[in-house]
Amino acid sequence: ASSDKQTSPKPPPSPSPLRNSKFCQSNMRILISGGAGFIGSHLVDKLMENEKNEVIVADNYFTGSKDNLKKWIGHPRFELIRHDVTEPLLIEVDQIYHLACPASPIFYKYNPVKTIKTNVIGTLNMLGLAKRVGARILLTSTSEVYGDPLIHPQPESYWGNVNPIGVRSCYDEGKRVAETLMFDYHRQHGIGQLQFLKALTLTFLPVISSRFSRFLYVLVFCFVFIEIRIARIFNTYGPRMNIDDGRVVSNFIAQALRGEALTVQKPGTQTRSFCYVSDMVDGLMRLMEGDDTGPINIGNPGEFTMVELAETVKELINPSIEIKMVENTPDDPRQRKPDITKAKEVLGWEPKVKLREGLPLMEEDFRLRLGVHKN
Ligand code: NAD
Ligand code: UDP
Ligand code: UDP
Repeated sequence: ASSDKQTSPKPPPSPSPLRNSKFCQSNMRILISGGAGFIGSHLVDKLMENEKNEVIVADNYFTGSKDNLKKWIGHPRFELIRHDVTEPLLIEVDQIYHLACPASPIFYKYNPVKTIKTNVIGTLNMLGLAKRVGARILLTSTSEVYGDPLIHPQPESYWGNVNPIGVRSCYDEGKRVAETLMFDYHRQHGIGQLQFLKALTLTFLPVISSRFSRFLYVLVFCFVFIEIRIARIFNTYGPRMNIDDGRVVSNFIAQALRGEALTVQKPGTQTRSFCYVSDMVDGLMRLMEGDDTGPINIGNPGEFTMVELAETVKELINPSIEIKMVENTPDDPRQRKPDITKAKEVLGWEPKVKLREGLPLMEEDFRLRLGVHKN
């Protein structure tokens, strides 16, 4: 279902293409697709801190939940829409954070055709919406676009090593197409077109009679354009991750709290770099507010093997549990670590929370949800 209903008793003025410009930075209406999920709900919390923001979440609750947003339901500046992004959405917004897509391998492999439709048709619809209203749109792409990388760490310039027919390809190839769509809309309907429109405006200005119509001509054609931002997110963890969503950090913490053995998938020497969710949200917001289209890697360069991660979780949460080796799934990338030089230079961003600081914060949340008290 699509909706353009207002729940706010005093709706802010209708969005103007000028809002995205440097002339006017107030009263933003921001759409977050996938905002009921893990990263999306933390982003909602942060954006709602600014009283000038009105936040709209569109989510089909496949992996997300209303529970993640319960503190905002009923708030005059917040609106939640049950919506599947593979269907068109007609609303008026200034910015779009497009997150909708399951992120855990278990869930994105569960219905791979739906995953690729979400990535391709979902992103197309969000771009169509952004184009119609002249909004700025940020795509949360992924480090999976690098596949099983042959360059380490991975800079944005690396084109990747992806199996196009593998079981992960609905997700990684899906995100690669989503990035392609973003850049094609940018080239076709983006700020580059502005130069062309300016030239056109200057050519025809002399034949437009009234000053007012000239003003409108310049205003409309010079400011309605799509602006894109692409973040390549590396493994992110923190409170509100689905307890049983199958990703490694949530699995290990849940297993440690339940007193079960930690399941390290073979060979255990494969690496990942884990970013705490507050750092991620900060990076995404800086990218949205900055001038660079990206793609920009957002992730924590601290790199760990899965055995090292298991040992750290064991030491911090439950030293008495075992670590057992189990079978892996196909096409598991052997190494992953972001090169964040660009994020540092362009966004002035780098992660602050170390793995040993972030894990206890997540443990606290999991303890509450699992009802396991600290001795
Ligand atoms: P998540 O699964 O918790 O959140 C995804 C949200 O999208 C959920 O609320 C889900 O219900 C919603 N959704 C899925 N399909 C939809 C559809 N067709 N229409 C509308 N809503 C839909 O995942 P997350 O960890 O919060 O990830 C958010 C985004 O970040 C995703 O795009 C993911 O690909 C990207 N990302 C995440 C990570 C990570 O480590 N968490 C890493 C790389 C990229
Ligand atoms: N779209 C949408 N909301 C809008 C505008 C467009 O969901 O406000 C969808 C539209 O249904 C289409 C897609 O976005 O499927 C791409 O739209 P665009 O206008 O770029 O392409 P076209 O409709 O011309 O194929
Ligand atoms: N993994 C593991 N035990 C688990 C779940 C995952 O050892 O219970 C490994 C998995 O093989 C992979 C890494 O952890 O090498 C990260 O997997 P995850 O599903 O969290 O994310 P992604 O593969 O998308 O990076």
